[in-house]
Amino acid sequence: MYAINCPVCKSAELYEAYPKYAGPCITSDSEILPQATIENRICRGCGLIFNAGGTRGATEAFYRDSYSLMTRSNDAAIQSYQGPEAKSQAERTLDFMLKFRQLPESGSVLEAGAGKGEFLGHFIRHFPRWKISAFEPSRSYEYLVQANPEIAARRCGYHEYEVGENRVDLVVSLGVLEHVDNPFDMLVWANRQLTDDGYFYLRVPNFSNNPNDLFCTDHLSKLTLPTIRALAEAAGFEVIATDESGVPLFALLAKRSARTGKIGQVYDENFAILSHNEMIAQGIVNSVLECRRQANSKGEAFAIFGMASAGLFAPLLGHFEPHEIAAFLDDNRTIWGGTVHGRPIGGPELIAKKGIKHVALSVSPVYFEQIREKLAPLGVSIYTAK
Ligand SMILES: [Zn+2]
Repeated sequence: MYAINCPVCKSAELYEAYPKYAGPCITSDSEILPQATIENRICRGCGLIFNAGGTRGATEAFYRDSYSLMTRSNDAAIQSYQGPEAKSQAERTLDFMLKFRQLPESGSVLEAGAGKGEFLGHFIRHFPRWKISAFEPSRSYEYLVQANPEIAARRCGYHEYEVGENRVDLVVSLGVLEHVDNPFDMLVWANRQLTDDGYFYLRVPNFSNNPNDLFCTDHLSKLTLPTIRALAEAAGFEVIATDESGVPLFALLAKRSARTGKIGQVYDENFAILSHNEMIAQGIVNSVLECRRQANSKGEAFAIFGMASAGLFAPLLGHFEPHEIAAFLDDNRTIWGGTVHGRPIGGPELIAKKGIKHVALSVSPVYFEQIREKLAPLGVSIYTAK
């Protein structure tokens, strides 16, 4: 018996996935939702992996009222660690787009869910002659219009926005598709906003590289490249370029005249990814618990490196008080000085300052080695998922 059907293909044949959970939850914004559920499912009909609970059905109110991704300070920005040096995620995102395809001098672009307008800020500097419009449902909208007064912006979600006659050459949507109730519906929407030879550029967290997303309350769909391909093709797009070397998956889709409407079946590919990720996610939680056990047995301090959800969930799943954690460590300087679970967030200098001897890694496995090498000289025992 399932409460809902697959949001995309409406199949009722759904299988449960890890973790089955109800209680305080953590959002992609590292905020605590006091009462929510995680009800991960994979659909036998189309292969979509999704959270049947979480913010589903309440997304409009959630983004209007509570979502504040990186608005705590105007400088807070998600950093990207792909490549030799840290760069803002927005800059890296523009780099990938221009690598996928050169753009003409002028045109029109619409960003769906533009956040604070970081990407568009870079875009304007590269393409000053483009006509730019955007919308954003959350409080970030205020920063968007403040920082980019030249953009035609509205505060709303995609359901309330249609370009009508003035179709655009490019729709951009970064970190949005995974939040909406039905990602196929949003792809169909994007297709409708585009000129006949228009493009849709998107960035989503790649579930294949991000087992932690199993814990994420508001990432309603756990998107993979097979899912993106299947949904994009059914919505009338051709996938012309992708990059999935890091946690973000970048994809450039070209509008095609024929919309098949028929969603390809990617159950087998997604089932393999899901099974692997369930193992890693449980492994990260267990590594935090093992790190704590070793630290407690020696009367020493321990920390969690990374803001990935598995680490943030470990106290909730392992039933221990977050104040036992000496600190959260992270590479993203823009969040240093903040707190999560009431514990300080900072850089590696906290290791000496707080006498930390044990560190569990709560990051995507693609970064395990890189972080292990960085922490090794600091004299701490490191715990990772096996
Ligand atoms: Zn389905």
